[in-house]
Amino acid sequence: MKKVYLDNASTTFLRNEVIEEMIRVMQNSNGNPSSTHSFGRDAKAVIETSRKLIANILNCTAQEIIFTSGATEGINWIIKNAIKNLKIERIITSRTEHHAVLHSIEKVSNSAEVCYLNIDSNGSFDYQQLEELLKESKKTLVCLMYVNNETGVVSDIEKIGELCKKYNALYFSDTVQAVGKTNIDLSNWDVDFIVASAHKFNGPKGVGFIRIKKSVSLGSMIHGGEQEKGLRGGTEAVHQIAGLAKALEISHARLDEERVNVTKLKQYAIKAFRENFPGVEFNGGENSFYTILNIRLPFSADKAQIILFMLDIKGISVSRGSACQSGSVKPSHVLAEMLPESELEKPSIRISFSHSNTKEDIDSLIEALKTI
Ligand code: PLP
Repeated sequence: MKKVYLDNASTTFLRNEVIEEMIRVMQNSNGNPSSTHSFGRDAKAVIETSRKLIANILNCTAQEIIFTSGATEGINWIIKNAIKNLKIERIITSRTEHHAVLHSIEKVSNSAEVCYLNIDSNGSFDYQQLEELLKESKKTLVCLMYVNNETGVVSDIEKIGELCKKYNALYFSDTVQAVGKTNIDLSNWDVDFIVASAHKFNGPKGVGFIRIKKSVSLGSMIHGGEQEKGLRGGTEAVHQIAGLAKALEISHARLDEERVNVTKLKQYAIKAFRENFPGVEFNGGENSFYTILNIRLPFSADKAQIILFMLDIKGISVSRGSACQSGSVKPSHVLAEMLPESELEKPSIRISFSHSNTKEDIDSLIEALKTI
């Protein structure tokens, strides 16, 4: 059975060049990067070269990039330390953020006021409400994601940045779904913190980075040695960091070509779904980010429980929209903010593309769904 993987927003597969680079580093750079001898210096050089490469691609300085174990760590760090060290009195966010953001905010909600922005039926933030809130003079951290991982809805990062600058608020944008998949020019964005996870752009799991703007003193969350300028203790995962940098380098170099191909594939999928399932809707609209399509199927509610299971049996991997979670039908917290109850009951699935998907993958998905 040919397997079909359409769940690239969950994770992506390593590119061969990334595996080769990681093996090269594991074979040749085994020193502790904190050691002053030649083995240590060699490992340190791998890290610093990676840091510079990432900074060049994102157009920021190398000192602003700090390696982490992934985005969840970075998100916890930014939110918890902003409250602890940056005198934040209020967080403005949305209920459609990733759980790493929502649950980190819950943990600090005793120490700061939390305001949730209104979301419209297309999943967009209420920018007017944001400005009204920012007019109140409270030291604020705005936590609003760039590309929503479930719907692909893209926020206006430049506009939010301008508002934050105008009203002197700090701005953290969860850019996990965008890094490696679109051009990011941090010199043009008024954003203080972003996060990334390498496995979302064909790099290894368990490694990521945060960007902390030079002017902001976030302080450390993981205490230990002097690694990462004392901001994040613990011996660095040298081969993971090298893999992250290689993955970003390749994604960036092939971005234009791969974006054109994936966008065509998404258009093909939209047309195929319209033709085969009249009444189908796309949560967040069909103009969402080119790698993500969230499909609300015109099926009865009872099918929500079995769709992912049935597709999996046929070798097709997609992600839930409103299908069952651990045996119970629990709607996605993102769709719950956007849809009325009657629409929420319908089965929704998220498909997410990578450069290696083909039209045949979409055809297989459509044929499989027709039998459910
Ligand atoms: N933020 C977004 C938007 C995501 O899609 C994810 C992963 O699904 C994360 C944060 C957390 O990333 P990680 O699990 O790699 O730490």
